[in-house]
Amino acid sequence: MTMVSLTTTTSLTRAAPVGAVVGARAQRRYGTRTRRAERTSADVSKTTRRARRVVVVANADAGESGETAAVTTKKNLPKVLVAGGGIAGLIAAAACKRKGMDVTVFEKVKKYEPFGGPIQLQCNAQGALDSICPDMAEKVMEKGTITGDRVNGLLDGVSGEWFYRFDTRKPCHDNGLPLTLVLSRFELLDILSEGVGTENIEMGTVVTSYENKGDKVVATLADGREFEGDVLIGADGIRSKLRAQMRGEDPEKPPLAYAGYAVYTAVCKYSQPHREPQHTDPNKVGYQVFLGPKQYFVSSDVGNGEQQYYAFLEVPAGGDDEFAKCENWENYREMLMDRFKDWCPAVMERLECTRPEDVERRDVNDLLPDPRWIDGRMALLGDSAHAVQPNLGQGGGQAIESSYVLADELSKCEGGKGVQTALMKYAARRFLRTGAIHGLSRFSSLMNTFYRRHLGDEPYDWYPESVRNMWLEVSKAKIPHPGSVMGQIILMGSMPIILEYVGAGYGIPGVLGGASTGNGKDRVPRSQIPGISAPLRDLTAEDFKMRGIPGLAK
Ligand SMILES: Cc1cc2nc3c(=O)[nH]c(=O)nc-3n(C[C@H](O)[C@H](O)[C@H](O)COP(=O)(O)OP(=O)(O)OC[C@H]3O[C@@H](n4cnc5c(N)ncnc54)[C@H](O)[C@@H]3O)c2cc1C
Repeated sequence: MTMVSLTTTTSLTRAAPVGAVVGARAQRRYGTRTRRAERTSADVSKTTRRARRVVVVANADAGESGETAAVTTKKNLPKVLVAGGGIAGLIAAAACKRKGMDVTVFEKVKKYEPFGGPIQLQCNAQGALDSICPDMAEKVMEKGTITGDRVNGLLDGVSGEWFYRFDTRKPCHDNGLPLTLVLSRFELLDILSEGVGTENIEMGTVVTSYENKGDKVVATLADGREFEGDVLIGADGIRSKLRAQMRGEDPEKPPLAYAGYAVYTAVCKYSQPHREPQHTDPNKVGYQVFLGPKQYFVSSDVGNGEQQYYAFLEVPAGGDDEFAKCENWENYREMLMDRFKDWCPAVMERLECTRPEDVERRDVNDLLPDPRWIDGRMALLGDSAHAVQPNLGQGGGQAIESSYVLADELSKCEGGKGVQTALMKYAARRFLRTGAIHGLSRFSSLMNTFYRRHLGDEPYDWYPESVRNMWLEVSKAKIPHPGSVMGQIILMGSMPIILEYVGAGYGIPGVLGGASTGNGKDRVPRSQIPGISAPLRDLTAEDFKMRGIPGLAK
């Protein structure tokens, strides 16, 4: 076996100057002024935005004198090993590197391939990324398609009418965070690997185990090599080998919790320049969640006239059901068209313009919150620690927030000293927040499952035949379901609070479950201006409002 010892390198650390930070409440109070100021500096170009950031960095290093300081270097920081070069591992590595730490990432695949379509990064994720590496955040914004500036929300799957419209701009504007966007996962990994430095990523290497050895941790690879560091980050995904070792799990049967749904996903060419959309105007609508019993359908504009959709079907786990095996249909697209045939034309239209070979299937799993994230000098991060259901589009976002916090805590260590305390603080700052997002993601799925627009719709399977038939007769009368009436009223009151918590955390301290965006510490809050740093859309405040009596509004 070869023991590889890593050497410490140096790099720039960054903090925002006290005077430049606009607090969330102050931002709200001075929003117009801030936004006007933003307009003057941000309208010219992305280059200008980059220049503005440079001023922040220079001031930060120069202290109050305002002079440009020499780049500070930190030689006495922990050496960081990272198992897994997915979103979590790469961002954690980039965050540690920017704080001045020496990092090495071990990634199982030999080469990243385009996979999985686009990913949504909400305002909290982008805020944390901006705090970690502003240049990477800029690239993400350049490549991404903003969806958070349009009407988003829940609809009745059959009628296609709005059940609840969100305004996802509000938490961004109120907290000086970027608008939600989507971008290709492949492009995201490319930006992140560049940020880490390809020389710091060992592709085609698998970490099989770790050992805490005195004041070091040793990672063993499948090829027999051993690497020693001060800390090892286990970012090896939901089926983590390192978590299995730490918690004594069977690595072949990780304790994943099945959501009750499988998801079928594809990207389809929905609007211009490919075709004229008939039922949804992507210039006005960002993402939509079509609700219905036993299935729901989520679709989002992902730029370039494409929509990505997720069709969730309530089926047993494992892919052994008739839909997964596709025995009665030519392909998944036909199966989905059959399953959604009574749904609104907006859903069917997306299926119709899908290429059959583009539909992929997977079981939806999460992990029950478990505070065992740390073992000596090894810490879990991302899906290995806190995998959530995809209903809120927050799994990757939480990985970015966790990376920001982990690097923040590790940067307070001196060499190998204090690493264990830093890891404990990281877990303490992140557990409540990720647990809350886990619960909210599960709750969304439950709400989708139990949603019924009219009394008698989709009677439960366990009803006796006669009761089922009675409810089916009742459903013909189209009486609004009391549950959906109450549900809409509750959503109208609670959704703005949930959006604020998920997107920005209400300014609550991280340890109490607030978001970890670095606002007020490592980034200067800022807002985007339609027509300048965000697209100009033909939308008014009225478009975001529900119309009608609460409970029956559209
Ligand atoms: C259908 C769906 C839609 C989603 N949509 C969104 C969304 O819109 N927004 C969002 O924020 N999140 C979304 N998520 C969640 C998000 O994809 C995950 O939370 C995120 O990818 C987790 O990143 P990770 O790096 O922790 O894990 P992974 O992405 O699983 O990466 C783990 C990496 O580690 C490597 N690896 C594994 N084992 C080893 C080993 N032993 N040694 C070395 N390398 C190893 C793997 O090759 C992989 O590259 C979605 C998830 C699903 C299922």
